[in-house]
Amino acid sequence: MSYVDEVISMVEKKNANEPEFIQAVREVLDSIRPVVEAKEEQYRRDALLERMVEPERQIKFRVPWIDDEGQVHVNTGYRIQFNSAIGPYKGGIRLHPSVNIGIIKFLGFEQVYKNSLTGLPIGGGKGGSDFDPKGKSDREIMAFCQSFMTELCRHIGADTDVPAGDIGTGAREIGYLFGQYKRIRNVYEGVLTGKGLTYGGSLARTEATGYGLLYFVEEMLRCRGIGLEGKIVSVSGAGNVAIYAVEKAQQLGAKVVTVSDSNGWIYDPEGIDVELLKEVKERKRARLTEYAANRPSAQYHEGRGVWSVRVDIALPCATQNELRLEDAKMLVENGVLAVAEGANMPTTIEATEYLQKNGVIFAPGKASNAGGVATSALEMSQNSERLSWTFEEVDQKLKGIMVNIFRNVDRAAKRYGMEGNYVAGANIAGFEKVADAMNAQGIC
Ligand code: GLU
Repeated sequence: MSYVDEVISMVEKKNANEPEFIQAVREVLDSIRPVVEAKEEQYRRDALLERMVEPERQIKFRVPWIDDEGQVHVNTGYRIQFNSAIGPYKGGIRLHPSVNIGIIKFLGFEQVYKNSLTGLPIGGGKGGSDFDPKGKSDREIMAFCQSFMTELCRHIGADTDVPAGDIGTGAREIGYLFGQYKRIRNVYEGVLTGKGLTYGGSLARTEATGYGLLYFVEEMLRCRGIGLEGKIVSVSGAGNVAIYAVEKAQQLGAKVVTVSDSNGWIYDPEGIDVELLKEVKERKRARLTEYAANRPSAQYHEGRGVWSVRVDIALPCATQNELRLEDAKMLVENGVLAVAEGANMPTTIEATEYLQKNGVIFAPGKASNAGGVATSALEMSQNSERLSWTFEEVDQKLKGIMVNIFRNVDRAAKRYGMEGNYVAGANIAGFEKVADAMNAQGIC
């Protein structure tokens, strides 16, 4: 058995009830085969892959909090410090009822290679809780965040581990978490990113993941002589990534006709009204039915269905495994040109392979959604030098980073004879840097 296969089957046995983690590991290890085979003896002796699939540290803790009626609730908190070979652990905090150790491990594993691709000095980590923010009052959100940080604060720090937002964690939650960290540790430092602009946040961080996704897509299409002007686009999700993907796509001349949330989806043939979407989702924290009620051209449908719409470009920006084989088949039948992931691992392995086999240009999230964490690293730089850069400065840097990621991914794929396979390119380019740094630092 090859070394890669040995490690995949070891991971499957050891983490049998963590399907998303197995999926993420399998995808990466499968596509770095040629790199590993070239140095198989050395990597096997050094157990390099075994070390890469085992988090450096896993923290699991109790999060008790009191609701507005005086009832106590208990959630489970997690922080996985996956790999610090190239910098302090970096990655978001996900608050969603689906969170468990396997989800956080898959996200942490992805984060290691994504962060490597940014070219910036950040290792990989991820955290979260099975807490459900839906329907909670501000007061309850604050109670949860303060309790979560009361434990987390002893494990993190500006030079150790720097969490940020993810699903369920936005500006409000980051504010409460930051306040509690400062109160307990008595240090004012850039321990979190995605902070508000009055207390160390970076301009353009809010927009960064969605904008970055479009900068990546723009470059990926540009090198084939294709522009975004006039393209019809579907977006799934209606959170931070989706909103700013819609905004940038429309700024670049495309028309976005869908968005979705956990209850249903919108088809808006006139193009999504992004200001209305922000009003509904960012300010009112309401459902998409509210969008439809205020937009005559919009149709609201219950359930799933975004991928049934005929489009040129599909941007899954909601959550893991939301684009499945049957969706990929519909997209191909409708002549889709490109699929680019805004969320983390939104496309199943079978769907990814189907799209690639049918000539669809496919951008994997760890490359195409890296703009968020890259801008987090820019926020860390600004915090370290105690300065703030202008929106234009950060946005320009973000654009440069995304173009560079595309070029590195493209080059890595070509180097191993897999031109146009950006899944392989991203995994290889991300892996090479981490492997090199781990190798240089000895067995640890
Ligand atoms: N949660 C985002 C991601 O998946 C951002 C992480 C960060 O900024 O640290 O990359």
